[in-house]
Amino acid sequence: MTAFPFDNSYARLPERFYARRQPTPVTAPRLIRLNRGLADELGLDPDWLSGPEGIAALAGNANPVGADPIAAAYAGHQFGQFVPQLGDGRAVLLGEVIDRHGIRRDIQLKGSGPTPFSRRGDGRAALGPVLREYLVSEAMAALGIPTTRALAAIATGEPVIRETVLPGAVLTRVAASHIRVGTFQFFAAREDVEALRALADHVVARHYPAAAQAEHPYRALLEAVVAAQAELVARWLLVGFVHGVMNTDNMAVAGETIDYGPCAFLDVYDPRTVYSSIDRTGRYAYGQQPRIALWNLTRFAETLLPLLADDETQSVAAAEAALAGYAPRFEAAYQGGLNRKIGLGAVREGDPALVGDLLKRMAENQADFTLTFRALCGAAEGPEGDGAVRDLFVDPTAYDGWAAGWRARLAAEGQDPAETAAGMRNVNPAFIPRNHQVEAMIAAAVEHDDFGPFETLLTVLARPYADQPEYARYAQAPEGGGVGYRTFCGT
Ligand code: AMP
Ligand code: MG
Repeated sequence: MTAFPFDNSYARLPERFYARRQPTPVTAPRLIRLNRGLADELGLDPDWLSGPEGIAALAGNANPVGADPIAAAYAGHQFGQFVPQLGDGRAVLLGEVIDRHGIRRDIQLKGSGPTPFSRRGDGRAALGPVLREYLVSEAMAALGIPTTRALAAIATGEPVIRETVLPGAVLTRVAASHIRVGTFQFFAAREDVEALRALADHVVARHYPAAAQAEHPYRALLEAVVAAQAELVARWLLVGFVHGVMNTDNMAVAGETIDYGPCAFLDVYDPRTVYSSIDRTGRYAYGQQPRIALWNLTRFAETLLPLLADDETQSVAAAEAALAGYAPRFEAAYQGGLNRKIGLGAVREGDPALVGDLLKRMAENQADFTLTFRALCGAAEGPEGDGAVRDLFVDPTAYDGWAAGWRARLAAEGQDPAETAAGMRNVNPAFIPRNHQVEAMIAAAVEHDDFGPFETLLTVLARPYADQPEYARYAQAPEGGGVGYRTFCGT
């Protein structure tokens, strides 16, 4: 068999969509990790990939048969400022494969050297951010949240210069596609309607084939992207995920989480939480994410205006109608998810207030987000479980004041408590990538070339909903609730 059964559809789009560019070879490639399970899913041979030819391909040192490496053009709003040209400045799309489920997947090298879109950047990635993206994206996948995946991490043997000199690495990223809101913005900014149409047709065929059958396919595309993002952001909130840099170039139209730069998970619950050091105004705070997703979708809708109807008034009306679908879709996903987190089925009157009251008490009492919901699973079995939840609140009576109403509501469900608890354990993870552990893992790898913690975390986070008592320490919250934790863009 050929090593990668490539079938490259994006490279067949017009030349102005990308720049053809080979990755730049590195001096001493070494495989840190291959995701063998994902390789299987993609129909690739893990033994070949982890052998010399595979490593050369994953490092960008040899062009595998059928690869047609391209750096994609895109634009984007960064912290609200429009930048008409960004593009893959340190990544190339090697090509696409059709996976075992018949889904087309991009195989991209990130950190593979400069491209025409590099601006002043070196086109490279440091080891720490590569390991972070590998670990967190795989953890998100295990949590059941749509995300890009990590196929491999390669150490380059070359230094990269940031504030300090750091070891370099290349990540092989797999995505349903790397098409972003910013990809549409790139052509809209150039008033290139022909390209917009070709891009929209490509996205419909690839990600939203049902839209092709609709009376207005481009309106159906917009509605589908709106729905996918509403669901995605709800799922982020439900596990305490803070993306950190929701620029429009970091929003994939396929609805996958993409670009794990300054991302982090909540420890104590506070909707104002911001981790990214460059997000000074809190634009991308945990609790702002639903608003920002809609803001980004509005930018997406603007790019589609020339395609939505024949005249502008009608186009704007169609765009507004589609965007109006966001709030109900988000609310249904979020409130439905919160209900499941506290052991309830369909949302009834009073449920949003009940769960809102819990969240308010958690915020006032610096309760750890993940631990609280996991401990609640035990409390659903009976009041013997209350102690473990109470202990997480600065003032434990704040929990007691809520639990009585919760128990009354649970009783109305009429479900067996053990079943309720089991259902809750399937939606309230015991294990998330804890920021302090991710940092310790990166420090071990970067400072001591020790990948043991990386491997252990990958093992634990592959089964986030299982108790795994042998790994109990990885479920623990950091000292002091993680307040003051900072992330950096990692470029
Ligand atoms: P990001 O912050 O990773 O979403 O990247 C924003 C933009 O900067 C994208 O166009 C990236 O390709 C580009 N970029 C980030 N880091 C580098 C780098 N080291 N070299 C070249 N371009 C980069
Ligand atoms: Mg990006």
